[in-house]
Amino acid sequence: MHKIDLNNFQVATTRTARDINRRVVLNLIRKHQPVSRAEVARRARLQRSTVSAITEQLIAERWVTTGASGDLPRGRKPTLIHFNGSRAGIIGIDLRPSETKIVLADLEMRFLAQETIATDRDAGRFILVLCDRVCRLIKSHPHITCEGIGVALPGRIDPCSNRLVFAPNLGWEAVDLRNPLTGATGLSVELENAANACVLAEIGSEVYPESCRNLVAITISEGVGVGMVLNGQLVRGTTGWAGEFGHIVIQENGPLCNCGQRGCLEAFASNTAAIRYFREIASKRNAGAAPPGFDSILRMAEEGDRNACDSLNRMAHYLGICIAIITSGLSPDVIVLVGEVTRVWKQIRPVINAVVKERSVFNARPRIIPAGPETRLRGAVALVMQRHFGALYSF
Ligand SMILES: [Zn+2]
Repeated sequence: MHKIDLNNFQVATTRTARDINRRVVLNLIRKHQPVSRAEVARRARLQRSTVSAITEQLIAERWVTTGASGDLPRGRKPTLIHFNGSRAGIIGIDLRPSETKIVLADLEMRFLAQETIATDRDAGRFILVLCDRVCRLIKSHPHITCEGIGVALPGRIDPCSNRLVFAPNLGWEAVDLRNPLTGATGLSVELENAANACVLAEIGSEVYPESCRNLVAITISEGVGVGMVLNGQLVRGTTGWAGEFGHIVIQENGPLCNCGQRGCLEAFASNTAAIRYFREIASKRNAGAAPPGFDSILRMAEEGDRNACDSLNRMAHYLGICIAIITSGLSPDVIVLVGEVTRVWKQIRPVINAVVKERSVFNARPRIIPAGPETRLRGAVALVMQRHFGALYSF
């Protein structure tokens, strides 16, 4: 049951019904294309005349096109409807402390152009460069009409000021990204925590059955973020900051976290933690210099280096603890892991599974899977996509 907020509600009008039906039809066409109007009507459980009227409107707005006729054993051949994925472009930005990726994607999540720039510690200087690169990317594709910019961030957005706040691994404070980007491009800008963006990309992908409505994404990078879709809805909480499992303290007086607390889960399960483990293990064994970064540890592990493998196993142990906490607290269908560490999935999977098994209170455990490539960028694009394809109202 979704509780109705009697201080902030919206009553249904004829337009409400029309908007909901339109979204259902558009989603069905996108999912089952090429598809006939009759098939859409059957799947939507709507009158054929209703579906035809919506389809005409979608054709006029170039959301869908009509294509070749379908094959039926006998009788009139229906005209098939195709989703027009190239109707518009979306700019996706994945901002991380070390580097920032920018993509131009179409409405079918096909990446048309992609580039990477270094993230500057100086926010003001960086935003100027970012705006310039985004403008150039848009200008170099004059045949594509961009309809928005989605930004996945390693932090939280203050819902009142729309500024980036609480980004401990980035070190920026109260930064306004929206106005400079809108000013430079004229496009609307969606800002969202990276883990939330990732879970939206995942729940909207074809990988999961329609019945999957409880999905958690864990982003593992310089920090550990958690995005949650429960009962089919993104969970934000009162503050809009729900999901900060990375800053749950699991060890009193543990290592200092960038958030200012000691012993946060993030300080044990992030890429940064694995680099620390490597240094500790290597110095204890009087072996090897400290690696320049997490990527080197991954590469060394892939080549069988014992110190690198042990560092990643220790990190995986704490990821297992994180997953066990989420499993016991939220009972999701699927937990999807997003991050470079999934490159060594074969190695870390048994470590994670063993910890989750040992620490879970339920017999039924969620599926734990690694995400596909570029999930954070897909998440940034999904922030704009959901304007058209997400459910319109929450019931
Ligand atoms: Zn912390």
